[in-house]
Amino acid sequence: MKAEIIDGKAYAASLRARIAQGVTAFQATAARVPGLAVVLVGEDPASKVYVGAKEKQTIEVGMVSFAHRLPADTTQTDLIALIARLNADPKVDGILVQLPLPKHLNELAVVSAIDPDKDVDGLHVVNAGRLASGLPGLVSCTPLGCMMLIHDALGADLSGKNAVVIGRSILVGKPVAQLLLAANCTVTIAHSRTADLPAVVKRADIVVAAVGRAQMVKAEWIKPGACVIDVGINRVPAPEEGKTKLAGDVDFEGVAEVAGSITPVPGGVGPMTIACLLHNTLQAAQRRESVPEVKPI
Ligand code: NDP
Repeated sequence: MKAEIIDGKAYAASLRARIAQGVTAFQATAARVPGLAVVLVGEDPASKVYVGAKEKQTIEVGMVSFAHRLPADTTQTDLIALIARLNADPKVDGILVQLPLPKHLNELAVVSAIDPDKDVDGLHVVNAGRLASGLPGLVSCTPLGCMMLIHDALGADLSGKNAVVIGRSILVGKPVAQLLLAANCTVTIAHSRTADLPAVVKRADIVVAAVGRAQMVKAEWIKPGACVIDVGINRVPAPEEGKTKLAGDVDFEGVAEVAGSITPVPGGVGPMTIACLLHNTLQAAQRRESVPEVKPI
């Protein structure tokens, strides 16, 4: 294997340690700790696991976690009323509504009800607009984590690098592309209608794959030495009968022979997402209390 493995698990652990220091410094000035409210509607098993991990890590870095578990039949009116209370609560710096919501709830309306300055998931249209306009805001967690790992592999200056983002979702593809553009990369966004995707990817010094198709990106697509960030989380059959395992959007074994650096799945981008949620909560608290921000990178 030629590529350097970008260890997202270790990076996320060091980021959490720096956030914990930031929380201590914040407390010394603001005389309180940052607070994150996590709202879970219904009983989706995967969502319960994610929410549990978020609450545990929030407490581990010294912040307060406010858990709100609502029944699956919660009405839109009641959910938006809760968000209004959290928006007005001075102890709450960040609000996260775990997605997906039950089908009868309108996700866009719910996310739009969150105060953009408490929108630590970075999904409010105001924060998307701030990102596109180069204004300070809250950046969605997975894209922020991708950028931290890219800087970790390639250094602070990404000027002039060709970056190809495969995927144009609001959650990952578009914000990653905006962040790479802000870092002075020349950015191409590829999607399901892109013509000759392998040739497009071959030009890239940086590849971010956010597609949701297991092992789609092949070694022949990759420019030698490129930095490859694999956002995909896919379940594929494991060698043992009846079992499954996680796989990314990149054919890791093959691509690692050509790339300069690559994130594994699991252990790459995945662990960064919750660490960046905590980063955003600290950042939101620092801004609300006018405490100087400590940059994580
Ligand atoms: P979406 O389904 O919202 O978007 C997928 C994108 O991939 C779309 O833009 C789609 O194009 C594009 N696409 C689909 N098929 C192809 C193809 N054959 N060639 C080129 N592009 C294609 O997914 P998300 O962005 O939400 O997530 C992407 C992956 O990242 C998933 O595996 C998800 O589980 C994972 N993920 C991981 C996170 C983490 O913490 N590590 C967090 C969030 C997501 P089009 O727009 O034309 O349909």
